[in-house]
Amino acid sequence: MFNELKHGEWIERNVLQVEEKIAPMIAKISHHVDEMQWKVLQVFRKLGVSEFHLHSSTGYGYDDMGREIFEKAFAELMGAEQALVRPNIISGTHAISACLYGILRPGDELIYLTGRPYDTLQQVIGSDRDGSGSLADYGIAYKEIPLTPAGNIDWEAFAAALTDKTKMIGIQRSRGYADRPSFTVGQIGEMVRKIRSIRPDLVIFVDNCYGEFVEGQEPPHMGADLIAGSLIKNPGGGLAKSGGYIAGRANLVAKAASRLVAPGIGVEGGATYGYLRDYYQGLFLAPHVVGEALKGAVFTSALLQELGFRTTPAWDETRADIIQQISLGSPELLIAFCQGIQSSSPIDAHIKPVPDHMPGYEDPVIMAAGTFVQGASIELSADGPLREPYIAFMQGGLTYSHVKIAIVQALEFMMETGKLAILKQSG
Ligand SMILES: *Cc1c(COP(=O)(O)O)cnc(C)c1O
Repeated sequence: MFNELKHGEWIERNVLQVEEKIAPMIAKISHHVDEMQWKVLQVFRKLGVSEFHLHSSTGYGYDDMGREIFEKAFAELMGAEQALVRPNIISGTHAISACLYGILRPGDELIYLTGRPYDTLQQVIGSDRDGSGSLADYGIAYKEIPLTPAGNIDWEAFAAALTDKTKMIGIQRSRGYADRPSFTVGQIGEMVRKIRSIRPDLVIFVDNCYGEFVEGQEPPHMGADLIAGSLIKNPGGGLAKSGGYIAGRANLVAKAASRLVAPGIGVEGGATYGYLRDYYQGLFLAPHVVGEALKGAVFTSALLQELGFRTTPAWDETRADIIQQISLGSPELLIAFCQGIQSSSPIDAHIKPVPDHMPGYEDPVIMAAGTFVQGASIELSADGPLREPYIAFMQGGLTYSHVKIAIVQALEFMMETGKLAILKQSG
């Protein structure tokens, strides 16, 4: 591969150096994957997963044994009493919405403890009684507690914000696409303890997107009441074609299911079409695939740090999700980085992404994604808004090798801009 690149020799030298440096970190991730793989296997064996469970139901989907056992396995791995894992949950946003609408009633209040939530939730929360069907439109109040400048929870502001209407607290595990740290499961556990010590009656919800299987435990193990996420991220293992999940206390999952489907049907109905085999196999593969993505993120972080860029998390830092942030410092480098990634995608490698305006974003955004499943961010993808400090958010990668190849390609593209020339001489 290096022989075919204009700057191959220089890139190869850096890659080999970095691979040596990160070897202990890579070994640590492999060890974590072994543990998680064992856990998944244990659950499958205990529940007696069999060939007939892989066959999906049609129609109303009543008495779908495969779905029932799959949801039991999923719940157990999440540390939850019950889980709802369905192809008719179309995305992470849909799963999160079902939780919010399922629990909150007019007159109640939702407080997000971890600052501004993920972009797609802004319209779910809403701001007026404008007929849009947002939470605000239903008379559900909302507050958010901005993180402190150091990225911590502002407990004073939280205590001051509580009212007798407050019913639900939102916590977002992953940074999403914000320039802030992601929270570890341990940190979420501390948040849960602290919230309970202030107000034991609140429902604690965690947006678990991008975090699944990155650590040994999940938020419900630490006492969180309800979590939600997407199956085209970590827990689908790259095989789920669509879907989302909700997990937590049985009574709360039931409320979310009533909203998702209809009261009276709740968790009982819902055909699984042809999805179950991919769900089982994807869940089986999820620890490995998440491990591959994590290894790719560590490699990327180390290599770009070596070349003088600020990377978050640093290569040797504890990770709470699969997202890697790289501050590229110039629009040319951000564009080149994303174009390099796209050019190494298995699908649509010939497409050249360019920055463009997107609904909900203030600045033009560039996105690289050449995935088998549309928008799947457990597959390698990278994007970033064209504004200072020109951060690329990179996530996923079904194989570690693919991430390395794509980053090598991205470096070649970055070299071509001429903005890396000084580094070339010094390296
Ligand atoms: C991806 C994501 C969502 C929403 O997921 P979609 O599947 O894109 O709707 C919500 N929160 C976080 C933190 C995410 O990363």
